[in-house]
Amino acid sequence: MAGHEALGPVPTLDEKHSGTPKRLSKEAQEVRARLFSNHTLPASQPRKRALRLPPGVSQESFDTAVRELRGAIGSGNVELNDKPLVDGWYIEHPNTHDAYHIVDQEELVSSATVYPGSTEEVQATVRWANKFGIPIYPISIGRNLGYGGAAPRIPGAVVVDLGRRMHKVLKVDGENASCVVEPGVTYFKLYEEIQKLNLPLWIDTPDLGGGSVLGNAIDRGVGYTPYGDHFANHCGMEVVLPNGELLRTGMGAMPGPNGTDNPTWQSFQHAFGPSIDGIFSQSNFGIVTKMGFHLMPETEHQSYIFTFPRDEDFEQIVDIIRPLAQKRILGNIPQLRHVIQELNVTGKTKADFHSGTQPMTREEIRAAASKMPLGDCSWVFYGTQYGTRESIASQLETIKASFGQVPGSKFYLPSDLPKDHYLHDRALVCSGVPVLKELDWLNWVPNAGHLFFSPIAPTRGKDARTIHELIVAAHKRHGFDLFPTLCVAGREIHYITNIIYNRADADMKARAVRLMREVIAECAGKGFGEYRTHLLFADQVAGTYNWNDSAFMRFNETIKDVLDPNGILAPGRNGIWPKRFRGKGWELKADDTDMSKIGPRL
Ligand code: FAD
Repeated sequence: MAGHEALGPVPTLDEKHSGTPKRLSKEAQEVRARLFSNHTLPASQPRKRALRLPPGVSQESFDTAVRELRGAIGSGNVELNDKPLVDGWYIEHPNTHDAYHIVDQEELVSSATVYPGSTEEVQATVRWANKFGIPIYPISIGRNLGYGGAAPRIPGAVVVDLGRRMHKVLKVDGENASCVVEPGVTYFKLYEEIQKLNLPLWIDTPDLGGGSVLGNAIDRGVGYTPYGDHFANHCGMEVVLPNGELLRTGMGAMPGPNGTDNPTWQSFQHAFGPSIDGIFSQSNFGIVTKMGFHLMPETEHQSYIFTFPRDEDFEQIVDIIRPLAQKRILGNIPQLRHVIQELNVTGKTKADFHSGTQPMTREEIRAAASKMPLGDCSWVFYGTQYGTRESIASQLETIKASFGQVPGSKFYLPSDLPKDHYLHDRALVCSGVPVLKELDWLNWVPNAGHLFFSPIAPTRGKDARTIHELIVAAHKRHGFDLFPTLCVAGREIHYITNIIYNRADADMKARAVRLMREVIAECAGKGFGEYRTHLLFADQVAGTYNWNDSAFMRFNETIKDVLDPNGILAPGRNGIWPKRFRGKGWELKADDTDMSKIGPRL
């Protein structure tokens, strides 16, 4: 689709809470132009159906409910989802549906969006949902792209968009090296605020900087400085429970003197008694309205690449990384990628390297890679070291000696590579500077959307080989190029694959669904489970965590039914269904490959 210019300039952070920082305005404009140059779909199409009502709610009752909510929090803060759906792109993204729709665009849609402006208004919204029996689905920024975007699991649920009016950095504590944020604070915004304060502190950002610091952490997302496990580095939460009550976790459960916040709320995560923070991550037990995070004091750093010549080097590379990571010689979670990602991260399309729709052959990848800066290789390791110049030099000596055991391995510093090589952007991400570069791999096919398949495997060569071969075979069977990004820690690997599909190609979408269903089941057969998944695969993934007659899910359901007896909060998120919906045909299981209708299947 031409005409991204019609959208006008990409909004900046000053104009919109979810915009880009001014320093990235030009780049954002260019990224958007590249993405739209490979779009054939129109910006929007007339709706096939009228507004999607919440299940079991009549139009009359819905109208009454909306009137009441508008009265409570302001009429401009409740918007009906009755206009044509616009997928937009990463920065100008929708809060009405899944922008990367893997099923029909109109299936995973909300009925309305609510914009609370305070914790009290979140409480009012939750009480309203209980009164009318309307399911609500909270998002912070709604950029959970690859995992369902801003869509609710139940079509017709009301999306609670927390970010639009609740996007303050509430506190940055230079001494404690910590912050407290509201849901709408993006990595871009937190970074810019810290620069304004001129504090020597880093944030930790995922590959892209537009996500919510809070939303990403409660979905247990990852970044790439030594503080890359976002949930592990949170400290203190404020949560609205499904009955509207307000709770603070950690030291925040103890009031500070004279009505202030507890002075150690951002200092000690666990406090006293059961540590309950975890139950508010990847769940539907509460809406998080404030969250604290530790920030890393800035330090010297050095990013680099090792390349390895053969696909078969894979096992040895993993076995070399394990002790380096366990001894913390590797300072962050490094990424191990396949050389095919050197092609797509340039922003070029598949058509630039290959004609036809079949996956590229190994020979084609080799031929194309030979013309790229890293040349003909197989695996590419992106690492970063931290500390003083001297300690970085000594760490690099150890790492070079270790990877040097792989015949033909090569080492590169940023200065060895052209200015537009991805390593320069990686160096920014790995030192806490949020960027946009990774969006370029979405130019691979026209109208690209993607699913993340994100299983966990032990950091052991033979296990890594097992999971890799299984994923390679499944991609071949269904005709997809394989883009593996392995985040390798000392004991486990997040093996992330980006299954990229054309949103205008129904057959390709159906194949992507079958591919997901099969790899989830096959990995579970070997004991490998996903750490996170797209909304529509959550039931299947949750079903694989079924040890002892699904004791884990039964425990989650027990909590859900006590906290949310009316089943209003994000039903079905992470496979947790409240009593009201459970066993009534909403669950999507391993054999549900036809997902043309998301609704009760009984
Ligand atoms: P949201 O969409 O706002 O929230 C995520 C989910 O959490 C929501 O769907 C909702 O269920 C729940 N939720 C949100 N807020 C609340 C709340 N306040 N209370 C209760 N529940 C809530 N992700 C990574 O982690 N690391 C990466 O490196 C990474 N790289 C990516 C690269 C590309 C090219 C793309 C397209 C995506 C990538 N992602 C990555 C995935 C995703 O973009 C990020 O995880 C992003 O931060 C998630 O979106 P968000 O922060 O806007 O969260």
